[in-house]
Amino acid sequence: MIHPRLLELERQFLPSPLQRVDDNFLIQRDIELWIKRDDLLHPIISGNKWRKLKYCLDHALQIGAQTLVSMGGAHSNHLHALAYAGYQLGLNTRAYVRGEELVSDQGNPTLNDLRQWGMSLQFISRSDYRMLRDRKQHDQAPNGQLGDYWLAEGGASLLALQGVAEIIDEIEQPFDLIAVACGTATTLAGLIAAAPQQQFLGVAALKGGRFLYDDVRALLGKTVANHWQIVLDAHHGGFGRITPELSAFIESFQQRQAIPLEPIYTGKLVFAIYRLVGQGVIGHGTRVLVLHTGGLQGSR
Ligand SMILES: *Cc1c(COP(=O)(O)O)cnc(C)c1O
Repeated sequence: MIHPRLLELERQFLPSPLQRVDDNFLIQRDIELWIKRDDLLHPIISGNKWRKLKYCLDHALQIGAQTLVSMGGAHSNHLHALAYAGYQLGLNTRAYVRGEELVSDQGNPTLNDLRQWGMSLQFISRSDYRMLRDRKQHDQAPNGQLGDYWLAEGGASLLALQGVAEIIDEIEQPFDLIAVACGTATTLAGLIAAAPQQQFLGVAALKGGRFLYDDVRALLGKTVANHWQIVLDAHHGGFGRITPELSAFIESFQQRQAIPLEPIYTGKLVFAIYRLVGQGVIGHGTRVLVLHTGGLQGSR
């Protein structure tokens, strides 16, 4: 039984439609491209962050937790979703934010939102931040008080996989390939766990993402699945890096298709798909589904 307060929050959510993308480039190569619009799920909570948080929030409510505690960067979609969800659920929220607090943070719309929703923020050095990554379990909040509920970076956890699996339930037609952007690759792992026979392609938003293979395998545990790969060279210089080529692609895609992308995850993902189609790696006749994971708040 889902906790009644979570059910109430869930009423704010909208359906995530499948939308066909068509242009001459795709038609000439006989590629059928669809986008699952998880960016439309909620006006504030970013697509895959809700998927990953849902059952963690339920668990936190069920065990009577009072404070949700997590970590993230100063533009984090995860913290943004968590702060809003906590605010709506009547739970306190606390976060460790990577980097120094700057006077210029006043102009950071993500941090402003977090504060407005009552999240208490502690700014920490990059090395302290890295150490927090060792904490994976919900009872491992740093400086933990009774009633604290820890969520690992990006909301990575086994409960997160359960929420991501609901994406698979919503996809009614068959696809040859389902593609998703990867930060922690928890979303990718959740998709694979829900459909081990399906072909998946992850596109790493960060440089040096080979470790993501181990992270996915760790999350999958005993699930046997060999039909997935992660593209490691489509990061445009690293996490958060934006090239003029990427910006131009996003703008032109938005104009042609009226689908907004952001440059951190979904822009790099769709750019990579077009590149692979152009190279023939994604061959003629392939039906591709791209998961739009949201994230548009982060590019304000
Ligand atoms: C966080 C995020 C991702 C990455 O999700 P992981 O599960 O960490 O791989 C992808 N897209 C968007 C828009 C995100 O905000």
